[in-house]
Amino acid sequence: MGAKRKKSFLITGAAGFIGSHLCDHFIRAGHRVLGVDNFITGSRKNLRDLISHPRFKLIRHDISKPLEVRERLDFVLHFASPASPPDYLSHPIQTLKVGSLGTHHALGIAKKHKAVFLLASTSEVYGDPLVSPQNESYWGHVNPVGPRGVYDEAKRFAEALTLAYYREHRVDAKIIRIFNTYGERMRLEDGRVIPNFIAQALLGKPLTVYGDGRQTRSYCYVKDLVLGIEKVISSGLNRPVNLGNPNEMTVLELARLVLRLTGSKSRVVFKPLPEDDPKRRCPDIGLAKRSLRWTPKVSLKEGLKRTLLYFKSEISSKKH
Ligand code: NAD
Ligand code: UDP
Repeated sequence: MGAKRKKSFLITGAAGFIGSHLCDHFIRAGHRVLGVDNFITGSRKNLRDLISHPRFKLIRHDISKPLEVRERLDFVLHFASPASPPDYLSHPIQTLKVGSLGTHHALGIAKKHKAVFLLASTSEVYGDPLVSPQNESYWGHVNPVGPRGVYDEAKRFAEALTLAYYREHRVDAKIIRIFNTYGERMRLEDGRVIPNFIAQALLGKPLTVYGDGRQTRSYCYVKDLVLGIEKVISSGLNRPVNLGNPNEMTVLELARLVLRLTGSKSRVVFKPLPEDDPKRRCPDIGLAKRSLRWTPKVSLKEGLKRTLLYFKSEISSKKH
């Protein structure tokens, strides 16, 4: 997508971790961005370099409530939702509302503007998967009434609604299933495993491994994800596509890697495994490779080094 024809984007969840990187990316490429956020987990600070930019506008709004947008829109990217397990567990109803009502409103805006719509879905729609790696044809293994159900089912409903708008209203709708993504602008207190381990290692606190640490995850650097998103919205794909980095490893291996990269003397302590914590997670990215020619490029070591620098500066700015 070149900067020759300026496009207009609405990005919900603009002040969050991924949303703010998307705002940066599309502004840098010459487009206009209208960001929407209610700051439940995001922060204006993530957008401080954009706030006074002439092609960027931020409005405080809860997308679970209707929103009228007058200016022309070409793309609606729906990223609003608590995403870290501690966040969605402490805001269960808000999470269900933004996945259902919020997605409904964002789709309604896309329909009215004849804009391309993108839903930020998640690998959590696969639940605690019985097959690995997970490809898009797997229907998942989700406990709808367990604590994580508020997030998983909200996203599953959001996917169903998105495809209903595609089929019934012909909205050019896309769905990405994002696997664990990390990078700069995750909060120190975000609660997800990479920010937890990095913050703990830098502060000389014990690294908290949940369960025996043998459960696996696969981690994608945020800039790789943004490039994948750009490809999806310019593609003809109207069915879910996995975006992630298939570098599967155990949580204990991740803890050791963070200790090595930080040179920290912190110990590892074991804490109870949260209920319904998936045992394995690894994306099959064959569809993204074939149809988008997308593959993540940044190694975990490199991505973690960049993230470490960000966390170091966050910690030192908190001290002063
Ligand atoms: P985040 O918590 O940093 O960002 C979410 C943003 O949405 C925040 O700024 C928050 O204030 C905003 N928000 C939440 N509810 C809202 C509402 N009702 N109205 C307006 N704004 C609202 O999380 P993130 O990691 O950047 O995740 C962004 C999106 O990507 C989420 O939809 C999440 O489900 C999805 N996702 C992320 C990952 C990941 O690994 N980071 C993985 C899978 C899916
Ligand atoms: N985890 C951990 N210690 C932490 C935070 C998380 O061992 O301090 C584990 C968690 O139980 C899960 C994995 O790391 O198995 C990834 O957790 P995260 O919250 O990052 O995301 P999830 O993939 O569960 O949504």
